[in-house]
Amino acid sequence: MEILFSHSYFLRFDPKQWALQQPYAPLGTLYAAALMREEGHSISLFDTMFVEAPEEVLPVLETHKPTVFVIYDDGFNYLTKMCLTNMREAAFKMIKIAKDKNCNVIVSSSDSTDHYEQYLAEGADFVLMGEGEITLSELTKAIQNNEHDFSAIKGLAYKNKGCIIKTSGRGVIKDLDALPLPAWDLADINAYKQRWIKSTGYFSINIGTTRGCPFKCNWCAKPIYGNRYNSRSPKNVVTELVLLKKMYQFDHVWFCDDIFGLKPGWVNEFATLVQEEKLQFKFKIQSRADLLLQDNYIKALSKAGCDNVWMGAESGSQKILDAMDKGITTAQIAEATKLLKNNNIKPSFFIQFGYLGETKEDIKATIQMITTLLPSSIGISVSYPLKGTLFYEKVKTDMHEKTNWTDSDELQMMFNNTYQPAFYKQLHKYVQKNHRKYIAYDFLKKIVRHPSLLSIATARKIVSILYYIPAVFYEKMKLEALEKQQLYE
Ligand code: SF4
Repeated sequence: MEILFSHSYFLRFDPKQWALQQPYAPLGTLYAAALMREEGHSISLFDTMFVEAPEEVLPVLETHKPTVFVIYDDGFNYLTKMCLTNMREAAFKMIKIAKDKNCNVIVSSSDSTDHYEQYLAEGADFVLMGEGEITLSELTKAIQNNEHDFSAIKGLAYKNKGCIIKTSGRGVIKDLDALPLPAWDLADINAYKQRWIKSTGYFSINIGTTRGCPFKCNWCAKPIYGNRYNSRSPKNVVTELVLLKKMYQFDHVWFCDDIFGLKPGWVNEFATLVQEEKLQFKFKIQSRADLLLQDNYIKALSKAGCDNVWMGAESGSQKILDAMDKGITTAQIAEATKLLKNNNIKPSFFIQFGYLGETKEDIKATIQMITTLLPSSIGISVSYPLKGTLFYEKVKTDMHEKTNWTDSDELQMMFNNTYQPAFYKQLHKYVQKNHRKYIAYDFLKKIVRHPSLLSIATARKIVSILYYIPAVFYEKMKLEALEKQQLYE
């Protein structure tokens, strides 16, 4: 059967990411496509990453004339997990176009799992609820056999005689090594590579080694892989790395797992295999402060080539971390940061402002944590209530009409909070610039201690102090003005 795959992330519709030009191929889509190909279907891909409009799917549909059109989002990428409305609208347009061409339309994404009624109302025939591969496999077989009763297929939402049917839940795949490797050949990886080389001078590729996360931070939505945690074997991952190195000569990997290497001994075994294969690459991961403090974990990361760990630090206030059910302490964040630096791995922090109950003192504690621990990079967001989370339940009665961001840079506060949305936007600007100012100071101190480290790049960083001192002052004044204005409103 002819199946055309697509996904609904359009880089152009996400201005901040478009400006960055550091795109990652839709890994989840390539996994599902690989499985369908293994099952004997004829597969093609309409990769929306660089196209200008959803309407561009029309000539592709006319060329391939697929029986089934699947919009299958990359459930590994946090950008698709954000459920951005620009992408949702693009998906709706593609659904309509494919229906006009008489395709069976199937959708699988975080957003469609949360809002399956809307997707069905827009014309989708089926929504795959949660992890989609096995459901897709059973569904395509049923379509191929001209079956009309889909009620026995788990993990499905569809319409029958005007009523929405939701079948029983589908469990997650436990043996990830049994899946075929992603169908990398379907995507134009060189188009990704060229953009990376132009924007950064190196090529980074994305690989998933696990699915799911067992922790329960109460604002974190995990509609696709849930709270289960399943892992590929280190050998299976290294096999893929060897293959990709031959095919695309990448320099860097983003292991896009929620949590990398949680299983005891996994990272150590992985590091040994990477060394045996003489693979040369740097990589970044996401992890938690408590896990980073496990015996030899950071050493093994360093041995394998890790150069950057993004930690969900979130807040410098223990009260807020506890309210989030984060399960870590500020002391662990400090300790993990120190250990990473001692092992020449860059610590980077995800920071979240605006959690329920956060006061000015809590915000100050977070700023203090950033300027004291001085992570290499910070990614700042505001609390984003996504359906299906405890946090959403806590704030849903205080939510504004708008419930999703349009693009990943919107950072709009969407519920009534201590401050108005404009304050958090300004806070974001101030904290980013203040962090860069402190980084520049830190460089200056290092150069004073070790003048031999002076280079054009370090000199540039130091000179940037001249920009950041007045810029931080200006952003702080604006922040204080917004705070006062809100006090008197
Ligand atoms: S550790 Fe990360 S992925 Fe897991 S629940 Fe918390 S925020 Fe989500």
